[in-house]
Amino acid sequence: MSQLITPHGKEERLIPLLLQGAELEAEKKRAASLKSIRITTREASDLIMMGIGAFTPLTGFMGSQDWKGVCDKYLMADGTFWPIPITLSTDDESVKEGDELALEDEETGTIIATMTVSEKYTIDKAHECKAVFRTDDTEHPGVQKVMEQAKYNLGGPVKVLSESYYPEMFKDVYMRPAESRKVFEEKGWRRVAALQLRNPMHRSHEFLAKIAVEVMDGVFIHQLVGKLKAGDIPADVRVKAIDVLVENYFVKDTVVTGGYPMEMRYAGPREALLHATFRQNYGCSHMIIGRDHAGVGDYYGPFDAQKIFLEIPEGALKCQNLNIDWTFHCFKCGGMASMRTCPHGKADRLLLSGTMVRKTLSEGGELPGEFSRPEVLEVLKKYYMDLEEKIEVKLHGAATGDLGKK
Ligand SMILES: [Zn+2]
Repeated sequence: MSQLITPHGKEERLIPLLLQGAELEAEKKRAASLKSIRITTREASDLIMMGIGAFTPLTGFMGSQDWKGVCDKYLMADGTFWPIPITLSTDDESVKEGDELALEDEETGTIIATMTVSEKYTIDKAHECKAVFRTDDTEHPGVQKVMEQAKYNLGGPVKVLSESYYPEMFKDVYMRPAESRKVFEEKGWRRVAALQLRNPMHRSHEFLAKIAVEVMDGVFIHQLVGKLKAGDIPADVRVKAIDVLVENYFVKDTVVTGGYPMEMRYAGPREALLHATFRQNYGCSHMIIGRDHAGVGDYYGPFDAQKIFLEIPEGALKCQNLNIDWTFHCFKCGGMASMRTCPHGKADRLLLSGTMVRKTLSEGGELPGEFSRPEVLEVLKKYYMDLEEKIEVKLHGAATGDLGKK
């Protein structure tokens, strides 16, 4: 009997929607004969999350009752807790209820799933945005995506046929919930905290993880390998940077690293809840929630993502939040500290902005060891230098072309 937290939902078991073996082959054949519609990268990645059981107990895209319940009360029509609508949209007027569809990823052309349309409906997009993002400002990248959704939402059960390029492209970190659960079980872990990562891991993140190592059986460093905003550091570079950190600065068998294919929504507090929900499926009893979790810009208060765990219906979610305050290096304390443990002021602390870090690294400059480990900085510096070089080659190439015409 597993000691791990049970998966989310009434059935308390993983429900992966990815077909296997002969069933998969048969459904692929059938999919080729179906009407197909193009889906966005967000929809494709949500399907893969359903495919691997990370979105247990969802069985497909949400209908209008689920959509409304999730927006207004964090609850699906059957009373199951869920924090963010998982929906599919289309402008195709010809699609009708009862149709069988093949869902084709617009990015790769891969048929990711088949779907039975049980409901075709329209939504008040601004309502969803205000509920989920707490704003309908289209400067917010998550709001922008919802507002750009097509006219109709399609709800209904899906059969997932593909995990797209994730298992191959991210083969060292890509992990399905059944796999992480197996690893945790083999280690005899029961209390496991997940650390959400979408940026390179600096000393502050390392400190968060190590606080959790002290009080848990283990930590799952779980990073997003799905789509981010333009300008963010690509997943393969982040993976490398985490690997060198774990190798050099963590005790063996206290951390497991993994990647998941979801796309960021930047929904701050609501997204923190989603992170905890699918981490429960991965076998994590706790979710580390630090400062401005999954936020963007100034849309959320720094600790809104911690407070929201008190606002959801009691007992709705088994995975608990492990709140940790703002962390940094303090020169007076002589080490890593947080707002709860350091009595000193701003002037004594090392605080660097993301912009400053990027600028320094791309110019080959040095960042203090109090901010990041040298092995991590090496990986990042190399990435930024290569990037600068590529841009220069591009500019140079264009100029040469112009000269050639004269
Ligand atoms: Zn201090």
